[in-house]
Amino acid sequence: MPDVSLPQHPVPETDRTFDELGLAPGLRLAVAEMGWVHPTPIQAALIPTALSGRDVVGLAETGSGKTAAFALPMVQRLEAGQGVTGLILSPTREITLQTKAFLDYFGATRRLRAVTLIGGLNIRHQMDELKRRPDIVVATPGRLLDHLERGTVRLDKVRELVLDEADHMLDMGFLPQIHHVLEKLPPVRHTMMFSATMPADVARLAQRFLTDPVRIDITPPGRAASGITHRLYLVDVDNKRPAIHSLLNHELGPTLVFVRRRSDAEWLWRIGRHRILVATDVAARGIDIPAIRHVVNYDIPETVEDYIHRGGRTARGEMTGLVSTIASWMDKEMIREIERALGQPLARCTTPGVEPYLEVVPRRRMGRRR
Ligand code: AMP
Repeated sequence: MPDVSLPQHPVPETDRTFDELGLAPGLRLAVAEMGWVHPTPIQAALIPTALSGRDVVGLAETGSGKTAAFALPMVQRLEAGQGVTGLILSPTREITLQTKAFLDYFGATRRLRAVTLIGGLNIRHQMDELKRRPDIVVATPGRLLDHLERGTVRLDKVRELVLDEADHMLDMGFLPQIHHVLEKLPPVRHTMMFSATMPADVARLAQRFLTDPVRIDITPPGRAASGITHRLYLVDVDNKRPAIHSLLNHELGPTLVFVRRRSDAEWLWRIGRHRILVATDVAARGIDIPAIRHVVNYDIPETVEDYIHRGGRTARGEMTGLVSTIASWMDKEMIREIERALGQPLARCTTPGVEPYLEVVPRRRMGRRR
């Protein structure tokens, strides 16, 4: 299972199988090798529709399995070696890189190659990559426009287009760049757009750039009544730093990290370009930041109340949020207490590049063996 490059966490599943969706045998095998048995709701609904060539608007957020929902049909519908025929616009560096990881994996079955064009990274290196004739470009809108204006990328052969996290891209002020880019694409193409919400400006974008799209509306997945999704990353003590590093590279949006020790806070400040705020419980009491999407417990809280309180920093109002806890075997007792208080187990998850710590499952129910 290629779990070193792709994050793994529980997703909602349907009782369908991937065999029913019209995917080619090579892609079905790739899916099976990932260990995926059932498609998620967005995958079950979207893959056959997209394979048929209909434009789609998917109301779905990160965690719904949407990346594979568009990557699989895109890969199936493209042929290698015909120039840039696939284009994906996404809001952030992290989403762009994660999308490329899926395209590399599924695309390998059809010899398709993807490149990323991301703002803030070396443009010369990207130009070199473009010279190697990729099939798919995954880009943030600003940097893609930059390449278009320099003439270093051509988009006149694009047949498959994805606008990922459209609401997020518009929040980031990318509307003018999106318009410039989309106006340069061939009018006859297949387009899929994803958005967690459908404000008027996103609906206008769909109206303008999609043709008679099928709307696929998926109720947000794994969402507890409070709007908070809880995840647990069990690792060896020595792997806590690699784990948070990897997590920050794969989870999106403004993040608040709770740490116990000052040295960890200082180390976190040095790890670069993440939109994070580092806090201790005491420091967190007074702050109220509406836009926190992700709370990370780098150290497990000392009390259940602190866990709940920390989590309460996200999912304000109508928003949803994610609470990730990095823990080692030493935190076993507190994990149990938190699970008791929540009335549900914390979902065990892994993050790319970090070995999970394997819990020993009690054998009580398996009967005694001699
Ligand atoms: P996404 O919403 O695209 O960010 O995907 C969320 C996570 O779900 C990723 O870690 C995928 O590897 C995983 N995933 C996607 N589809 C499935 C599936 N059908 N079964 C199990 N895991 C999946």
